[in-house]
Amino acid sequence: MARVRLYDTLTRSVRDFTPNDPGRVTMYTCGPTVYRPVHIGNLRTFIAADLFRRALELEGLEVRKVMNITDVGHMTDDSQEEGGEDKMQLASEDEGLSPVEIAEKYTAAFHRDAGSVNILPAAAYPKATEHIAEMVELTETLIRRGHAYEVDGMVYFDVDSFPTYGKLSHNTVDQLAAGHRSLTPGGGVDPKKRRHYDFTLWRAAGPRRLMKWPSPWGEGYPGWHVECSAMSLKLLGDHVDLHTGGADLVFPHHEDEIAQSEGATGHQVVGAWSHAYHLLSEGRKMAKSAGNFYVLADLVERGADPLAFRYLALQTRYREPTNFTLEALAAADRGLERYRKQMAEWFAGPVAVSPGGVPAGFSGGAAELDQRFREAVAEDLNTPRALSVVAELASAAIEPGQKYRLLTSWDRFLGLDLAREVTTRDQLPRGASEKIEARERARGDRDWASADRIRAELAALGVEVIDTPQGTRWLVSR
Ligand code: AMP
Ligand code: ZN
Repeated sequence: MARVRLYDTLTRSVRDFTPNDPGRVTMYTCGPTVYRPVHIGNLRTFIAADLFRRALELEGLEVRKVMNITDVGHMTDDSQEEGGEDKMQLASEDEGLSPVEIAEKYTAAFHRDAGSVNILPAAAYPKATEHIAEMVELTETLIRRGHAYEVDGMVYFDVDSFPTYGKLSHNTVDQLAAGHRSLTPGGGVDPKKRRHYDFTLWRAAGPRRLMKWPSPWGEGYPGWHVECSAMSLKLLGDHVDLHTGGADLVFPHHEDEIAQSEGATGHQVVGAWSHAYHLLSEGRKMAKSAGNFYVLADLVERGADPLAFRYLALQTRYREPTNFTLEALAAADRGLERYRKQMAEWFAGPVAVSPGGVPAGFSGGAAELDQRFREAVAEDLNTPRALSVVAELASAAIEPGQKYRLLTSWDRFLGLDLAREVTTRDQLPRGASEKIEARERARGDRDWASADRIRAELAALGVEVIDTPQGTRWLVSR
């Protein structure tokens, strides 16, 4: 078993990943805000979390992954009701649907997109709207423990009460002159706060507010950061081995989550923090607000397999920024197709699988490649190196059946459905199997004219035959 190592944002170093309970990992991933379809930048970050989960599973660890669904609209960071915008509410006004309908629509769309790029389902997808009581309770705990205070229906976290604030992002309070403040419509600092860098845990509802709940401080709604603390504490307990998200969440979202969770429990909650870097488009961070974004449906419309995007994501390590282009996507699409065809050619019967679900052992060159692939994956998800091992496999002097088994086993990590084109005889369209046999007989008799005629008949049934030194293989177009 290879040791999994990862870059931890908290310690700023690559280090061995050690869950509290050996063999079992708790993992929390910040999920989408469901007021629009996710864009492929969001998906890159979610794919990175999926790859961590699969890397741990590949090494035999059991992973319990929780991903939240933010279905409460939040102000753009800490701005005031009148000055800021609540994206859920804006979407609701734009589309003529209630906030609940907007959330349902885009939660379903998110699950579809995540499934299309083979992100394995999480153990739970807690919704913010179903955990308001936990958020209120956490806020009460923070007040009781001297970390929060209420002013006129607003509750703020008292950053000065938490001396290690800034340990994740290195944004310590002396550096927070401009970055983390609450603007009034006039552009000043929220006068209710003791310090401009205090952040909101609970916000009083204004007159236009649609989503609001009763609380000990009056009608209102929770701050965004409190959501992830409350839900991770509820679903994973007071220790989370791995917390992931996009790089833009380091500050303030995750810095504030540390202050809340540690303020409430009195100890460190998250063992390791991992952040995926941004997907760029036209050289800038892909973002809905910048208008330089693609959603998965845009790629499918251009003829790409959604998994070509996953393959493209694998080509850059998760913590390198990378610029998305349609040309690179098209190349990834072709590359994926090539591997799938190759798999169909290598296919030589059912994969021998041992009772634990792990393919039976590999020998010689295959074992050596297997070790190098796993080491690349375990070394902080070095996916470009892992893919170069996949490329080596294609030309390696290894028996095709072993190649097939090896790549099937690696695909448990890659998640590219590489065996998709492989069709067993009983899955062929009606009549095709007999034709394949007739063609094999014709080839045996060196009757090339008949063999070619039957090939054309098979093509009309959607079956492409490929002659390899190991015998005839076939692909079925779908
Ligand atoms: P949101 O729905 O905006 O909360 O974003 C969901 C996730 O996508 C968060 O983890 C963000 O950090 C991440 N994210 C947003 N934009 C990008 C981008 N351009 N590239 C990669 N990840 C992103
Ligand atoms: Zn979060």
